[in-house]
Amino acid sequence: METVFIGFGSNVGDRVDYCDRAVTLLSLLPHSRLAGVSLLYETEPVRDRTDPGEGWFLNGVVQLETDMKPRSLLTTLQEIERALGRDDDDRSGPRTIDLDILFYGDHVTKEPGLTIPHPRLHQRRFVLMPMNELDPLWVHPTLKQSVAQLLTDVPDQSHVRLLFPQPSTRYGSRPTCHVPPGS
Ligand code: AMP
Repeated sequence: METVFIGFGSNVGDRVDYCDRAVTLLSLLPHSRLAGVSLLYETEPVRDRTDPGEGWFLNGVVQLETDMKPRSLLTTLQEIERALGRDDDDRSGPRTIDLDILFYGDHVTKEPGLTIPHPRLHQRRFVLMPMNELDPLWVHPTLKQSVAQLLTDVPDQSHVRLLFPQPSTRYGSRPTCHVPPGS
């Protein structure tokens, strides 16, 4: 089993529902166990490489223990994106759901269509904040810094705030986090 962190985000439609459905589908993956789900964060759209529109995102991170290989995990994430209405013809536009493999254990992969760790995760506050909630001591395998350290140093000043009140989701009790949020 490998410990895998998957980032999710939604900025159109019923964002809470899309996030909730994505987490539910991730919890049902074969040879996998859902080990943690972050709270939801509301974040300003970042226009570094894409134009996702004006809608603010809801973002979070899921921790899975899985036997799925990285490539088949990516294919499955893309199927979930399609199932939840992601527009394949305009992938850089507004998105019902976006799923990214952030970390796959301490694997380092750079092949066509799949880079692990995700190449921009350390530049994005909206990834580092929920990641920090789940496992602040997780070490980036190439940058050799903990998530907490990366978050302290990230230059990204975009707004990321905890969604309040947190919606009730299908997860009545979320898996326990390493550190209680806000501590
Ligand atoms: P996005 O617009 O963020 O959904 O980008 C998805 C594209 O990034 C797909 O073509 C993937 O093949 C590629 N990609 C590369 N590395 C990753 C990764 N670690 N997680 C998810 N998608 C990835």
